[in-house]
Amino acid sequence: MKILAAVAPSAGAPFVNKSLNLDDPRDDEVLVRIQGVGVCHTDLVAQAGVLPLKFPAVLGHEGAGIVERVGAKVRKVKPGDQVILSFMSCGHCPSCEDHEPAYCYQLTALNMGGSRPDGSHTLHDGDSVVTGSFFGQSSFANYSLAQERNIVKILPGVPLEIAGVLGCGVQTGAGAILRSMDCKPGASLLVIGGGAVGLSAVMAAKARGLSRILLGERLDSRRDIARELGVTDFVNPPDGNLADEVLRLLPNGVDYVLDTTGVPSLLEQVPRLIARRGTFGFVGLPPGSHTAMTLPFGLMDAMRRGLTLRGIIEGDSDVDGFIESLMEMYLAGNFPFDKLVRTFPMAEINAAIEAQHQGECVKVVLIP
Ligand SMILES: [Zn+2]
Ligand SMILES: [Zn+2]
Repeated sequence: MKILAAVAPSAGAPFVNKSLNLDDPRDDEVLVRIQGVGVCHTDLVAQAGVLPLKFPAVLGHEGAGIVERVGAKVRKVKPGDQVILSFMSCGHCPSCEDHEPAYCYQLTALNMGGSRPDGSHTLHDGDSVVTGSFFGQSSFANYSLAQERNIVKILPGVPLEIAGVLGCGVQTGAGAILRSMDCKPGASLLVIGGGAVGLSAVMAAKARGLSRILLGERLDSRRDIARELGVTDFVNPPDGNLADEVLRLLPNGVDYVLDTTGVPSLLEQVPRLIARRGTFGFVGLPPGSHTAMTLPFGLMDAMRRGLTLRGIIEGDSDVDGFIESLMEMYLAGNFPFDKLVRTFPMAEINAAIEAQHQGECVKVVLIP
């Protein structure tokens, strides 16, 4: 079928709106009419050409929409159902069997392989292949092919257009607090970076009942929303010295630290500002030098202080159960993720990304 997609034509180039051909759904696939799709940091990293993806490519991995058609073997949804699209996993490796699909042994191949697992392509431009199946969806388009494993039914009352953000960025931040670090009520937390992931962590921390929620964020424009979502203290010294500021507020250090930035000058300060028996969770990477960056802790220091260092993918989400629990929290008024979102027409994708880059909005959702 003919679809309309925002195509990344080459590394670092702006998106181009284009008509492409999308395959029919196979037995295990679900065709979704996209109603809204979030823009996540990984889309921008992929657009920049940092990931091993071939161009042209259709990115987008926070889709939400209405099921149009399903393959013969699909049982979970039927045409007309409203769904969120999340990341793909294999379903049969040790992590998947343990309900930890974020650590699937096939995660990279299934989400960034550019094709179906068998190597066939879902997207074509005339006779040429276009990289698709990004996070099992490639949802910067008005239609997307997903699979039973990476779709979740939307609960009544959750706004369809913006619900896709729960499928990656928002679940990463919230899951870091509620699952990966499993923060204790009453404890203290520092979130470094007040983007969509960081502020989702803040919302989850408030819902969990943490006593102090500190935010390190350079944009003053984020303060009002951050405070509304649960931040109790801002640590944003002009000289970038977070540690002194944190220790002034919490002389024994902070119990949990979540870094969403990967900025080396901030990460280097974590050993100074974390409490004994503290947990340091990290979801961010510095631009460009992903493999060169190491953790800023000495072996003896981490041991003597009983620290836990926790790498986090997708907030340890199990997809079905966790996204549903975030929707329940939203419906109960404890997780107002809609406050992060600003919608733009998909045709204005480049301007929308620029607005997010300038700090004019926290989280962009594109409407096809
Ligand atoms: Zn797996
Ligand atoms: Zn993402």
